[in-house]
Amino acid sequence: MAVLAPGARLSRVKVSPDRVIRTIAGLRPFRPSGFVVRGEKLGEKTVIHNYGHGGAGITLSWGTSQLAVEEGAKAEARDCAVIGCGVVGLSTARLLQQRGYNPVIYARETPPSTTSNVAGGLWDPVSVYDRPSVTPEFRRQFGEAARFAFRRYQSLTGDLYGVRWLPLYTLSRDGAVAVAPPESPNSEVQPLYPEPKQLSPGEHPFNVPFAHRRYSMLIEPAIYLNALMRDYLLNGGRIAIREFQSREELMGLRENLLFNCTGLGAGKLFGDAELTPIKGQLSFLLPQPELDYMTVGPGDIYMFPRRDGVLLGCSHERGVWSTEPDPATTERILRENAALFGGMRG
Ligand SMILES: Cc1cc2nc3c(=O)[nH]c(=O)nc-3n(C[C@H](O)[C@H](O)[C@H](O)COP(=O)(O)OP(=O)(O)OC[C@H]3O[C@@H](n4cnc5c(N)ncnc54)[C@H](O)[C@@H]3O)c2cc1C
Repeated sequence: MAVLAPGARLSRVKVSPDRVIRTIAGLRPFRPSGFVVRGEKLGEKTVIHNYGHGGAGITLSWGTSQLAVEEGAKAEARDCAVIGCGVVGLSTARLLQQRGYNPVIYARETPPSTTSNVAGGLWDPVSVYDRPSVTPEFRRQFGEAARFAFRRYQSLTGDLYGVRWLPLYTLSRDGAVAVAPPESPNSEVQPLYPEPKQLSPGEHPFNVPFAHRRYSMLIEPAIYLNALMRDYLLNGGRIAIREFQSREELMGLRENLLFNCTGLGAGKLFGDAELTPIKGQLSFLLPQPELDYMTVGPGDIYMFPRRDGVLLGCSHERGVWSTEPDPATTERILRENAALFGGMRG
């Protein structure tokens, strides 16, 4: 076994069923051809869509919202409605305020009850599209949105927004972590990550043959979404709790410029049959403040050391609508993570 290089030691995650503080599941709003950012006329109203972010709504929120707000600037209105109060609606509303608009948010749920609160919070645009289904226009928007969001989050690092840089270890038993090929939209994003490195066995403590390290940001949804809400309200924003059953109902709104940030809800509201859920499940362990790294893999497991608990995740179940945690998945999350962290050297 290779000798561990100085500095390669990491604190161990303490995985056991009696340390679990909660288990939750949520639905990623996925579209094979990727998120939708575009304008549409609805009678005398203009609707700017901004939904369908799959497994990367936190990651891309600032970027797609910037594209949406630029699209909205083509209309004359200054009073506008944002439908939805997840990370996408709140980012859109904040960008509108910063441009001098007066947005009102209308939403069925607000944090902490949105899908955005279920997110793990890793900055990484994954599970956003199926490569054969994307268009060149989507690829352009994806690259632009990711670059904008990557810069914007860097201006929010610190305790106030719950954003911080951490090393991310991608672990594999099957082969070295592949670089995204040029035809993949993610090849636009890969150069953003600082200090990527394929590690030799002596450079990491994990008992797997392949490990890659790069740096990314962890955005803690509980802290971050509260901070966005606070910023929005302190800048004069209003939130109205309201559920819309149909697009016709939107016609009754006072505002003529609408931003559709309804996530998975856009499927029913706007008849988008491409939208489909990808269920994911998370178990949280008691917080361990000494943990200063994140892991993804081997397989589909991941670990992010959040203030509200050490997040252990797995599972991407496409087409599953239930938000009930599945006991067999919980057992697998704990078993596979216990094997990974129990097998660490040092
Ligand atoms: C297990 C899991 C892990 C994830 N991990 C990550 C991660 O690490 N990084 C990352 O970037 N992303 C992650 N995601 C993805 C992320 O959570 C989503 O992409 C994101 O939350 C989508 O945000 P949103 O604002 O579009 O939707 P939502 O948060 O669902 O907000 C939609 C809003 O619209 C409202 N709404 C919907 N329909 C109506 C209606 N008819 N009338 C009125 N209001 C309506 C809702 O009430 C809500 O306010 C994860 C998701 C899951 C499930």
